Amino acid sequence: MESYDGKIKGKSFLITGGSGFLGSWLSERIEALGGTVTILDNLSSGSRDNSKHLKAKFIQADVCETKTLPGKLDYIIHAASIASPDYYQKKPIETIWANTKGLHNMLEIAKQKKVKGFLFTSTSEVYGNPPDKFVPTPETYYGNVNSYGPRSCYDEGKRCGEAYCYTFFQAFGTPVRLARIFNTYGPRLRAKEGSSYGRVIPRFVNQARANEDITVFGNGKQTRSFCYVDDQVDGLLRLLLLDGLDGQVVNIGNDDEKTIIELAKTIKNAVSSSSEVAFGPLPKDDPIRRCPDLRKAKKLLGFKPRIKLKEGLKETIGWMT
Ligand code: UDP
Repeated sequence: MESYDGKIKGKSFLITGGSGFLGSWLSERIEALGGTVTILDNLSSGSRDNSKHLKAKFIQADVCETKTLPGKLDYIIHAASIASPDYYQKKPIETIWANTKGLHNMLEIAKQKKVKGFLFTSTSEVYGNPPDKFVPTPETYYGNVNSYGPRSCYDEGKRCGEAYCYTFFQAFGTPVRLARIFNTYGPRLRAKEGSSYGRVIPRFVNQARANEDITVFGNGKQTRSFCYVDDQVDGLLRLLLLDGLDGQVVNIGNDDEKTIIELAKTIKNAVSSSSEVAFGPLPKDDPIRRCPDLRKAKKLLGFKPRIKLKEGLKETIGWMT
């Protein structure tokens, strides 16, 4: 399989959401390989601290208000969006707009600049709550999503975003590539966003380190498949940069499916905590199983996640300490 390393040097990248968790790691890898990065971020959920160490030009602005940008651009990565369910449900308008109106603006810029590639960070949430026979879930599964519920600003926002990308690809030949990202974790993923909790892994780590109850929702038998950020960045850059992939949609994640109760126990052990598990209600529309079918990612991208949960947790906990 060809490598993307040589395709980055001397190229200019726009990364929306570049001060967020994923965007900052993408920016860092691109700069390390000799690319030039411009970050466009309104800091609604990202933090300037995530990108301060980079050389990247930083523009503090909202993707929904940005219609044009100066200079040459070779690639665009649209990673701007709130992603944590607890937080996006408190900011539903910002969430749906970043993935529709804001995405539309970035697709127009891609058209103006005639970019070589446009990556949209879509999500496993487009699958909603798939029945067991569609887990692991392939890209061909159309989804089982509640269009009128608390998660729909994100799920349907991303689904509409995919439709925008498809439409631009068909109508204008915009070189879109869509990643359906499954739960990703690592340093810089936050345990709190305003008064909301961020994502489950940093939340459980903080609870375990403080020897507080670990708050498992429902019976804890719901599953997620956690991908370490290094692997995720590798998959995303393969999808954006390898030849012949315009118009493709590919799952990127790790297919090691775990229940949330298993995750709670693993984290408790990793920090030698005396925490107990406290069960609470399962949030409405929380998917029961989530695991990617990675056959397409392997075939088209040569992608394979390498970091095991225990290893990735060690890095994450080290960063949080
Ligand atoms: N979760 C939990 N306790 C918490 C936070 C989350 O049991 O304190 C569960 C949540 O219900 C979901 C899973 O952990 O089943 C992952 O939640 P997260 O908010 O990280 O993201 P999601 O995968 O739902 O987008």
